[in-house]
Amino acid sequence: MQERANLLVVGGGASGLAFALCYARLGLSVRIIEKRPSRSLVQKATGVAQGAWHQLAEFGITEKIIGDAFPMTQFVFHDNAKLVAQIKVPPVNGEPPAHLYPQAKLEEAMEEALASYGVSIEYGRQFVGVVDEGDKAKVSIVHNDETECMEVDWLIAADGSRSDVRSFLRIPFVGRDYPEDWSVAEIRSEQWPTEIQAQLFLQSDGVGFFLSRPSHGVVQGILNAKGAADKLCNTFPDATLLYERQFKVSLRRVLSPRHGRVWLIGDAAHVQSPVGGQGVNLAIWDGVTLARALADGRTDVERTLRRRAQSVLRFTDFDYRMLSAKSRMIRYPRNLYWGFAARYPILAAWFFKLISGKW
Ligand SMILES: Cc1cc2nc3c(=O)[nH]c(=O)nc-3n(C[C@H](O)[C@H](O)[C@H](O)COP(=O)(O)OP(=O)(O)OC[C@H]3O[C@@H](n4cnc5c(N)ncnc54)[C@H](O)[C@@H]3O)c2cc1C
Repeated sequence: MQERANLLVVGGGASGLAFALCYARLGLSVRIIEKRPSRSLVQKATGVAQGAWHQLAEFGITEKIIGDAFPMTQFVFHDNAKLVAQIKVPPVNGEPPAHLYPQAKLEEAMEEALASYGVSIEYGRQFVGVVDEGDKAKVSIVHNDETECMEVDWLIAADGSRSDVRSFLRIPFVGRDYPEDWSVAEIRSEQWPTEIQAQLFLQSDGVGFFLSRPSHGVVQGILNAKGAADKLCNTFPDATLLYERQFKVSLRRVLSPRHGRVWLIGDAAHVQSPVGGQGVNLAIWDGVTLARALADGRTDVERTLRRRAQSVLRFTDFDYRMLSAKSRMIRYPRNLYWGFAARYPILAAWFFKLISGKW
């Protein structure tokens, strides 16, 4: 492999994998470390937007997973148990705006593609510190209680929402936390209505329950309250619970993705509500955009990365507010809009264009 910039990627999630894949595909050497001992099986995203789908196609991933992915074609929306709309999802550029596919399996496919370029994730290695020396950065990595020091041109922090790199450098993560406790659960069930890919159940008290089917026989529920598992089991009588976990959601970002010799991408640089399904897509877009620029010897992508993150955060916050609205003044026009959008799909087109990530 050609040596260009000497790079270290911290984090083997979607953003780190996307960066490493893009860089390695261009024939450049890259090292990627991950603190976990092996690949995570924790389930998060189910939606892969068209933008990320096309980027993954460049690495031959889309054609491998398409047989098991569900194109987004129908979406059902209830308010206080009353059907508001059954939307026939309009195609964006002639294709589904998103596909449903489990994030853990997507990352597995990305890791396999990376291995085909001769790069393996180095598991069990943890970033613990960095000294920026202006033209280089000295990074410390711990593995089996031993510390390794590495000199790099660029350190790529793709280490998630609780980024150790961001904390170590005391980079502010500005924004706010949503007040609710959230929960996510998955069940095994054969009772999913096959022609629909996503269902949304809203309540007048602001609680929203989002259901999707990431793979055959599996249903995921996300609730902006505790109790996603109970809700799933009440909705699907044949349910077998696979897991439930609680989490908090924030709307935060770094003011700039670049700090000297360090770039922050994915959740390390910005976090938002899962409503709107944009986290993994933005993570992949960040990774690919930065890798292409650094491979070209360019560093002028700071503004591009920042602006894209700002737009996505605005969109997901708007989506979240619509979902959790308690006031009739918001709920009534919201439901009216989706009722019309069900009859005239052209009215839903702008929303699904945003979901598609092609903007
Ligand atoms: C319930 C839920 C549902 C979601 N649904 C969607 C959806 O439908 N669509 C969508 O697009 N997004 C969704 N998201 C968001 C999406 O999952 C995240 O935005 C995405 O995982 C971000 O990827 P990342 O690579 O930036 O970070 P992560 O996936 O968090 O990966 C960071 C990696 O860095 C590693 N790491 C951390 N610290 C260190 C260290 N010191 N040294 C070495 N390694 C380290 C971690 O172990 C981890 O593997 C959802 C999120 C949740 C919680």
